[in-house]
Amino acid sequence: MSVEISRRLLTWFAANGRDLPWRHERTPYRVAVAEFMLQQTQVRQVIPYYQRWLQRFPSWVTLAVAPLDDVLKLWEGLGYYSRARRLHQLAQIVVADYGGQLPSQEKTLLALPGIGRYTAGAILSLAFGQDMPLLDGNVRRVLARLYAWGGDPNSREGERWLWAQSRALLPSGQAGAMNEALMDLGAMICTPRGPRCDLCPLAAYCLAFTSGRPEAFPSSSLKPPLPHHQIVAAVWQDTAGRFLLAKRPLPGLLASLWEFPSIDCGAEPAYPPDACLQKWLATEMGWGRTLIGAALPPLRHAYTHFRLTLYPFYVSLPAKTDMLNSLLKTYPAWRWATPTQARQGLAMTGVSGRLLAQLVREGSI
Ligand code: SF4
Repeated sequence: MSVEISRRLLTWFAANGRDLPWRHERTPYRVAVAEFMLQQTQVRQVIPYYQRWLQRFPSWVTLAVAPLDDVLKLWEGLGYYSRARRLHQLAQIVVADYGGQLPSQEKTLLALPGIGRYTAGAILSLAFGQDMPLLDGNVRRVLARLYAWGGDPNSREGERWLWAQSRALLPSGQAGAMNEALMDLGAMICTPRGPRCDLCPLAAYCLAFTSGRPEAFPSSSLKPPLPHHQIVAAVWQDTAGRFLLAKRPLPGLLASLWEFPSIDCGAEPAYPPDACLQKWLATEMGWGRTLIGAALPPLRHAYTHFRLTLYPFYVSLPAKTDMLNSLLKTYPAWRWATPTQARQGLAMTGVSGRLLAQLVREGSI
């Protein structure tokens, strides 16, 4: 049955597969860039980033020698910035240790930054033509439905079962096409909600379809609600109309991105936002003479593991260098920037980028 499933799927894929820019020229570099970008991110969001990336960094070498700030700036808005840092590190290792050629052995790939089992499978099957399976969200869903598999996809046993099925379906010498066919079927036909079984080339073999409840597979385990944090930000302008930005420390969430100096008051803050900011500036930064000014409209934002509400406040301080230097207790770097300088040269966190846009819109800076 596996042979017939593969044959039907490959026939369907040849006629209906998506025309995506990273499928035009499958060098290991291009495949790796696309796969890093596609982790946790929608295809349509990735396409313009991928095209800009290849113009600016067309090879491992151009990426390896680029400053990290430039790399993060080009990634700005795509989220999960650790992917950009790891891709940059990977380029440096490929150039320094492997003569500019990405290794083609699974074990070696898995030891490199940012390459897990999925990315290794994609690189080896798509760029090197090896018979390697891969498993992303689309492939998991198609496999679970095909076999009406009721196991827990997040368990270790579930993971083992899914990898075994994806390997069993691979026709020798056509792993790349088969992997892409499974991904495309999941993205276009076997969607999480409302799968188009009437258009599916696998309907005759699909046990979930036969059951009449295709959406019941895979089983979904209930996730606990995300914690919600209160963050306060200081908006501080100098007399030239520039504002103060600080670089987030490495390692950590959103490392090396720029933001308005901020403090996380936690999920259950003991103080209201303005008092939390005052306390942070006075006790931890030593800015006892801070004047907290008007509040700006709060902004809501969501990351993978938590949601936040950012409460921005104008602050004023005497512009003394030692006070500014106290910022270095929290941040590795700070600088003054105009909105244009920030937009063109600094990779900002999503929520600080939105705050900047809000300030510009309101004519505040
Ligand atoms: S028949 Fe329906 S549920 Fe089964 S693989 Fe096709 S689209 Fe998915």
